[in-house]
Amino acid sequence: MTNYDRTSTRPGDHYIASLNDGRKVWINDNPVEDVAVHPAFAGPVGVLKTFFNELHDPELKDKVGYVSPVTGEYVHKSFLVPQTKEQLLERKAAFEYWVDETDGLMSRLSESGRSIVTGWYASRAKLAAYDKEFERKITAYYEQARDEHRILVSVVADPQIDRSKEQTELSDPDLALRVVSENEEGIVIRGAKMLGTAAPYAHDILVLPEGRLQEGYEQYANLIIVAANSPGVEIVCRDSFALSPQEGPLSALYDEMDAAVVFDDVFVPWERVLFYRNPEGVYQAALHKKENSLMHHQSVIRLIAKYAFVTATGFSIAEAIGAERFLHVQEKLGELVVQLESLKALLVVAEIEAQPDEFGTWWPKALPLRVAIDAASRAYPRAIEILQLIGAGGFLQVPSADAWANDLLRERIGKYYRGARVDADTKVKLFRLAWDLIGSPAGSRQELYERFFSGDPVRNFAAQYLEYDKQPLLQKIQKRLNSR
Ligand SMILES: Cc1cc2nc3c(=O)[nH]c(=O)nc-3n(C[C@H](O)[C@H](O)[C@H](O)COP(=O)(O)OP(=O)(O)OC[C@H]3O[C@@H](n4cnc5c(N)ncnc54)[C@H](O)[C@@H]3O)c2cc1C
Repeated sequence: MTNYDRTSTRPGDHYIASLNDGRKVWINDNPVEDVAVHPAFAGPVGVLKTFFNELHDPELKDKVGYVSPVTGEYVHKSFLVPQTKEQLLERKAAFEYWVDETDGLMSRLSESGRSIVTGWYASRAKLAAYDKEFERKITAYYEQARDEHRILVSVVADPQIDRSKEQTELSDPDLALRVVSENEEGIVIRGAKMLGTAAPYAHDILVLPEGRLQEGYEQYANLIIVAANSPGVEIVCRDSFALSPQEGPLSALYDEMDAAVVFDDVFVPWERVLFYRNPEGVYQAALHKKENSLMHHQSVIRLIAKYAFVTATGFSIAEAIGAERFLHVQEKLGELVVQLESLKALLVVAEIEAQPDEFGTWWPKALPLRVAIDAASRAYPRAIEILQLIGAGGFLQVPSADAWANDLLRERIGKYYRGARVDADTKVKLFRLAWDLIGSPAGSRQELYERFFSGDPVRNFAAQYLEYDKQPLLQKIQKRLNSR
């Protein structure tokens, strides 16, 4: 579908060039001419470029990549369909390398969307039961995405207008994304999706409906892949939260842009319509199913790296100001350790209990991964609260970046801004770093992300109860009640 020039450049360089493709991205009230060079995207786009080029690095290519059976070139391991447990762990090692480099602060290093597609590809024979064309279409897309190093993001929720209403009850039919026409070539969709993180600099957008759709809602029950530069796609960004490296050392690098995506009568060829008016097919491919445990595996690996970074920040703050000697501070730091080690344990359980399916694909056990994601939706905000409780007002005793240039202020800072065991320069840098997790716009967004990235936590926790295999537990009670 695209004319990917394999000979010209390394994948990261090619990625940068590929973004100048006529896409329509808006930031503030301006269309963005070239997202690859716009300062609002410079951090994450630069990280992605570096990482993609590692597929050509003799030292790293075997860690992050494997050889495509079609092109003979290195492609990222998120596309690897694990045929053994060792391959599942190879995928993990590739993810770990990137999330350790970014301390888990970037959720869209491309492996998340790629793992969704890899899961569908690995389940193609099963999902073909809901549409016989599914297998052929997902195979073609998977191979193209893998061999052209495409970045995919997903968009699920319709705009947040009136959640008390079903799609069909909304005042304007365009408020829920739907199909407005079809012909022999494909379909035309109209509507908007509320949030697509990294959509401004992705190649393709996976468009899905939210929840399980019932009879009568077929027009919304589609699973579609839309090229980000398709005519009619408008990507509308929020404000940039990227600060200067001095002010926001994390947000300068890792402010992943969130954007609403408007589909203004966008034509999608049938090749990219994986399920059409097919509530059951869409539900079976939905993001919480076993077919997506490869994606959830990646999410938990990222969560662990991020939680470890926040934990390390907590330790560092406490020790910088001599607060680690207080019992309640030790208790809070211990809580961070307990949560971190619990997440790690859940990941290991999912890997130990991994099983091959009838097609030979090794899937990590889904339940511990879902438990880790749901647990972290509460543990991460609590970790941020712990940082606030330990650092307290110290987060605001931070001079502006240029205060150091003034002789008098520099002398005052050196004297009054130091910590128990660190000099003023180190303490100010540490507290700025921590502020970029707990108080800056990008830090607040990171917290909101962990609460919601996998859907509404209220409904996710309820689903844990509703979908849990309750019988073995209930039998215990029954046994007691039956005993005399
Ligand atoms: C930083 C960030 C990045 C994101 N990136 C992406 C992305 O890349 N792709 C993507 O698809 N999504 C993304 N999301 C969206 C995310 O999936 C949603 O925020 C999440 O699914 C919750 O939906 P909502 O925000 O529409 O909240 P709503 O569904 O509008 O919920 C608002 C409130 O109403 C309650 N509520 C609403 N409906 C019900 C109901 N039926 N039953 C019970 N309670 C209800 C909720 O519990 C909540 O308290 C992102 C979100 C954030 C915060």
